[in-house]
Amino acid sequence: MNKKNDYKLLRFSFVLFCLLSLFACSSDDSTDDDVETEEEYIVIDRDEVVLLEGTDVDETTLGFAEGNVEVQLVEIDGTEYYQVYTSNQISLPVDYDMGPWCAYDVDDDTDEEGGIWIDNEHGEVYQVTYDFLDTTVNELYSDSDEDDAYWDAMIDGDNVNYTNSRYLCINAAVAVVEEEYWSQCVECLPEYFEDETIEEAYYFPVTPVKLDQPSDIQGTQGIALNGVIFDGSAPVDDIISYYTIAAFDDAGGHINPFVGYHYHTNTGLTYGFDEDDDHRFIGYALDGYKIYEHDETLTDLDDCNGHDDDDLGYHYHISDAATNENLPCFYGQTATTGGGR
Ligand SMILES: [Zn+2]
Ligand SMILES: [Zn+2]
Repeated sequence: MNKKNDYKLLRFSFVLFCLLSLFACSSDDSTDDDVETEEEYIVIDRDEVVLLEGTDVDETTLGFAEGNVEVQLVEIDGTEYYQVYTSNQISLPVDYDMGPWCAYDVDDDTDEEGGIWIDNEHGEVYQVTYDFLDTTVNELYSDSDEDDAYWDAMIDGDNVNYTNSRYLCINAAVAVVEEEYWSQCVECLPEYFEDETIEEAYYFPVTPVKLDQPSDIQGTQGIALNGVIFDGSAPVDDIISYYTIAAFDDAGGHINPFVGYHYHTNTGLTYGFDEDDDHRFIGYALDGYKIYEHDETLTDLDDCNGHDDDDLGYHYHISDAATNENLPCFYGQTATTGGGR
């Protein structure tokens, strides 16, 4: 489902290929040149963004935790948007310490020592323990002796093979993984990217516009109030096809070299605040509607997990953690940055 990030990873491989092969590579950036309306979403070219003078938006006004984002009011093609910059080093959350992700050895066999793995096909959130990597992955994902051998190679005696360097993380976190990097638990630690900042701007309309039909989500879905992005679904089938487990931490996030720390799901651990007894506000969807915590008791949600409320207006509740998604779709008009990401 997460085509945009797959695209990013592919593009990264493509760039690497260009560098390594010294071939002249070019990509089609034609969408960069204009602001165009494509059905439900507007493709934004950064050149078209007009910063409205003196309009820094106090992040506390919008609910964002201080310290991780800058919010400004901008105008794009006559419509006002909030531009949210996550300028922190690789989009780190300000409200908790990330990790852990992989279990490292036979002693890492409690919920505390590893993160989680989400498998939407089985509808489960698994704890990433030594036992999970040693035994459960075979039960879940092995169809043959050959599969068994690859999954078994993730364990070396009492130790787990995991990406214990920046080099290994980068090579195992791409869309096409070379065989020498298979059979690993994949984690990218923040210290691997200490010297790097990923600057990215996201836009959502000041006044959301509800559409008649929901639209598919491509890539980034929204921004949590701690400044971390809600990303699309993790490409679980691709990840397990290389006999890897790209673990999430208990908050549903992990780091890749391209977008930094990001969420594939929400487990209720992120920064937020209660707007009423049933609504803990945790972020914004890119169509401008607010996202509240998951509430399994609700029975009136639409296809996009949204519903109307007399006081809160139209809003979403984030999906159940086991679904490997934050939101299934958007009901409002979104803007997306075109090309070049
Ligand atoms: Zn991811
Ligand atoms: Zn609600």
